[in-house]
Amino acid sequence: MILYISHSFFDYEAGNLCRLFFPYEKLKTVTDLNEAKDDNFIVKAFYNEETTTVSVIKDNTASEKIYKNDNNKDKEYNVTSAIYKSFCEFCSYYPSWGMLTGIHPVKLFIEHIDKFGKVEAERIFKEEYFVSEEKLSICRKIASVQKPSTDKLEDNDFSLYISIPFCPTRCSYCSFVSQSIEKHKKLIEPYVEALLMEIEETAGITKETGLRLVTAYMGGGTPTTLNAEQLKRVINKVKECFDMSFCREFTVEAGRPDTIDESKLLALKECGITRISINPQTLQDKVLENIGRKHTAQEVVDAFILARSLCFDNINMDLIAGLEGDTLETFIDTLDKVVKLNPENVTVHSLALKRSAFLFHDEDVKSYHQNKSLAEKMIDYSFIKLQESEYLPYYLYRQSRMIGNQENTGWAKINTECEYNIYTMDETHTVIACGAGGVSKIKDPYSNRLERIFNLKYPNEYLQRFNEMLERKKEVKVLYEQFRQWLH
Ligand code: SF4
Repeated sequence: MILYISHSFFDYEAGNLCRLFFPYEKLKTVTDLNEAKDDNFIVKAFYNEETTTVSVIKDNTASEKIYKNDNNKDKEYNVTSAIYKSFCEFCSYYPSWGMLTGIHPVKLFIEHIDKFGKVEAERIFKEEYFVSEEKLSICRKIASVQKPSTDKLEDNDFSLYISIPFCPTRCSYCSFVSQSIEKHKKLIEPYVEALLMEIEETAGITKETGLRLVTAYMGGGTPTTLNAEQLKRVINKVKECFDMSFCREFTVEAGRPDTIDESKLLALKECGITRISINPQTLQDKVLENIGRKHTAQEVVDAFILARSLCFDNINMDLIAGLEGDTLETFIDTLDKVVKLNPENVTVHSLALKRSAFLFHDEDVKSYHQNKSLAEKMIDYSFIKLQESEYLPYYLYRQSRMIGNQENTGWAKINTECEYNIYTMDETHTVIACGAGGVSKIKDPYSNRLERIFNLKYPNEYLQRFNEMLERKKEVKVLYEQFRQWLH
């Protein structure tokens, strides 16, 4: 796919729009029209003072449309909205998030409310970004559910993320750095030892910086690939090194049921873990097999019942819409069964096919993945069912190449929201990460500035270049010194 824009500095946004409609096309942006001659898929946009003309030529179909510019808007908006409208007409497809391509639509919505007021923010979403009434309504609800959690934040609050990048096997759609323990079992113990050191160093840095821990989250991968004793060592290290007196919640992703047993759940309970996640993704055995899981739906249910019997009173369950082989009927069956179990939180993801996932290279799956209306129906059903069952949406984020251009939404029974998810997904405050693949996001509490500090990605390199990585982490203190200086 070749993209030519007469004002080429809008390439980035226009490129995102191309991916929204044609997620698997390889995109090349050109500044010379001669380079766009021979391709079988060419998009050209010409801007002048009055109008923007967009022409799309794909295989044997061609269309050319002229759109009148809005004089109150800048060139970027006029060009990108013209491309968006022309793609909608060309594909007869009107994405429910309109031309929004960013990861955090709710964050954008709240920023617009703060800047322009609620009525104008809603008008902009509907009329300028073409967001559907249904998606706007979910933004509205989430903004109001999040408010009590964001209102209580202090400038020096932060959240902690601990990464355990190991899983029993690799799921077919996985794009994380997670390593299967079939191949990397030997790395686990040295990894835990290094992680304990990083937690201690990080606690020292946050203390010197004057930060206050308010939520903690252990994710991955699947943290419960660690044994009970290793889990206890990691959690107790956090509790020993950080001041936990302001920490309101500590989540551990128990993730896959084939890693959960009574001894691990008891260890989590004993360490005071307040919330766990048991993630079926689907309760259809055939679909579980398709995605490379080595457990049954019944094992998920058994793990949930076991956790309840051990008094876990805040359990999340993750589901994915758009898994290979799942139909609307089987998705409905899964969600209904999950709701019957009555977990406090349900998170409904839309499958995102990333380049690093095995599935990305499977042409049959790609064509299934382009079944936008199926994904939309699944997500629509989850909205109806979960609202009927007294769940409120409390956070939402999007990724590129999501089936049907949908979203991931966290739902919670009243007052059981995971605040870590709110703070991290909408980048409300600083999140400091420990462990391989972790990314610390240092947020200036007085502005929108956000700086990232990357840990090493894979367990092997994490172990080999550990000291170098710790050095980088000291940047946290330097950044906060800058933020505070700028304020004065
Ligand atoms: S459980 Fe999650 S992190 Fe682990 S392989 Fe599957 S998708 Fe990846």
